[in-house]
Amino acid sequence: MYINEPALVLFSGGQDSTTCLFWAKKYFSSVRTLCFTYGQRHSKETEIAASIAHEANIPFQLLDASIISQLSVNSLTSNIKMDEEKPEDSYPNTFVPGRNLLFLTFAAVIARSHGIRHIVTGVSEADYSGYPDCRDTFILSANTSINLAMDEHFQIHTPLMWRNKTEVWKLADELGVFDIIKNKTLTCYNGIPAEGCGHCPACKLRKQGLENYLITKK
Ligand code: ZN
Repeated sequence: MYINEPALVLFSGGQDSTTCLFWAKKYFSSVRTLCFTYGQRHSKETEIAASIAHEANIPFQLLDASIISQLSVNSLTSNIKMDEEKPEDSYPNTFVPGRNLLFLTFAAVIARSHGIRHIVTGVSEADYSGYPDCRDTFILSANTSINLAMDEHFQIHTPLMWRNKTEVWKLADELGVFDIIKNKTLTCYNGIPAEGCGHCPACKLRKQGLENYLITKK
């Protein structure tokens, strides 16, 4: 697959979206990034995203979406303690209701202004932490709604949809960016780059995936 058209990548500087960025760089004629700031607990996230894009020579755009933090209280945008495990009868408090629908809508409006119709996002249903807006059905539905809303032909690409964390590491290696992903990205909920704090849910998932990948690689 190679598409001789530009793409816009939703980019946060984490493992998943950085892998998507290099995936898009390979499969599209050109790439630009869109990064959202929405009152995340760690502004370091956006600094890291900017520096990864800069080093890869990819245009970086930061959009203030901080209205999201005014809409609901959750552990990503406030100081309440995050859930270590998913509660049985609800979503973890790292869930920001409506986030991906808003992000995709903002991304489409911005993509349109650049004459771009391909949008890439790193959501995944495989290692899905219970977020409804990471599911494939949601993405297909959002794609249809956004096209209808703007009378456009956007195509939302989700290269990680069916890849678990082990397979995301494998993809990074195949793309030749294993070291960049391992050493530069920030996935940790406590704002520590690379290997992170080691005990938050995001670090555990990342670490387990890496260990599994390194075993299969031997
Ligand atoms: Zn962590």
